[in-house]
Amino acid sequence: MSCFLNSKFSRLVPYTPGEQPKDMKYIKLNTNESPFAPSPKAQMMAAKAAQSLQLYSDPECRDLVFAAAKYFGIQTDEIIFTNGSDEVLNFAFMAFCENGAVFPDVTYGFYSVFAELNGVNYKEIPLKEDFSVDINDYIGVNKTVFLANPNAPTGIALSVEDIEKIVKSNPNNVVVIDEAYVDFGAKSVIPLIKKYDNLLVTQTFSKSRSLAGGRLGFGIGSKKLICDLNTIKYSTNPYNVNSMTAAAGIGSLEDDEYIKNNCEKIKENREYLEKELEKFGFSMTASSANFIFAKHCSIGGKDIYLKLKEKGVLVRHFDKERLKDYTRITIGSKEQLDVLIEKLKEILEELL
Ligand code: PMP
Repeated sequence: MSCFLNSKFSRLVPYTPGEQPKDMKYIKLNTNESPFAPSPKAQMMAAKAAQSLQLYSDPECRDLVFAAAKYFGIQTDEIIFTNGSDEVLNFAFMAFCENGAVFPDVTYGFYSVFAELNGVNYKEIPLKEDFSVDINDYIGVNKTVFLANPNAPTGIALSVEDIEKIVKSNPNNVVVIDEAYVDFGAKSVIPLIKKYDNLLVTQTFSKSRSLAGGRLGFGIGSKKLICDLNTIKYSTNPYNVNSMTAAAGIGSLEDDEYIKNNCEKIKENREYLEKELEKFGFSMTASSANFIFAKHCSIGGKDIYLKLKEKGVLVRHFDKERLKDYTRITIGSKEQLDVLIEKLKEILEELL
């Protein structure tokens, strides 16, 4: 740390992204990326947009906003596009958390970092023993609520009815539902924005739409919430979405069959991996996401992570006390999963 850093950031512990080692070629099942390439239409439109990169991107992302409004059945002033959904989440912490925020103790690790960064008081509410959310903890809580649905790293989803109860009971606070993984098996609450002006739904093009490197996310909510988020956006970086990514986003929305097909393949692969892991003595949470969260009956999560890494397969391990027995594994292609299964088999033979 230099002596020039503003003292309010001196204790900030930044988010640790999943590792991207370059020492050898790994099978990457650690950052919940898609194993499939972006839709051909998205690639083509991004390449075309590259021809006009001498111009600034459209700060309003008009073409993308029109395409998305049509796709999601909303008005054009009910959506904001950002540089990944991380950015819209950060904006929400900046904009809506004057009275503090609440989120589960086990959830997306960036929430607490955004809270710290923006000087927001926050409380982490423990998940139940089985890692599910007790919705009673969020009823009338009088703080800004952040819930990932499905949650990460557990993959467990809440029902639309339960989320509606939380939104309805907190009319004076924003409830942010982070639907980064919703396309893999949960139900979106986007239709509820018509009924509740305190609901903000965030989604990303990084997972089901295979555009993690393009960095495209968005928030959908009432016109006034979106207006507030735009105040923050235009006060930080109006050109937050680059032209190639905006074009790729339109291509992806227009190629729905390709995306839906990929999501179906991920769901099939998830089921396949769950069955195989059960045979090896793993138990896991019920995942509606593109990853599973699994625990072996006798080997710790860290050992599994380290041994797999030695054998060229990257998965994610969290040191946090409640999570240390677990391993989070991204659902890759069938071929990637078969290598993972083979390596796990070798590890179990070596260790047991
Ligand atoms: N929410 C959750 C729950 C996530 O796991 C992630 C990805 N790590 C994000 C949001 C942000 O993803 P992106 O910025 O790529 O849209």
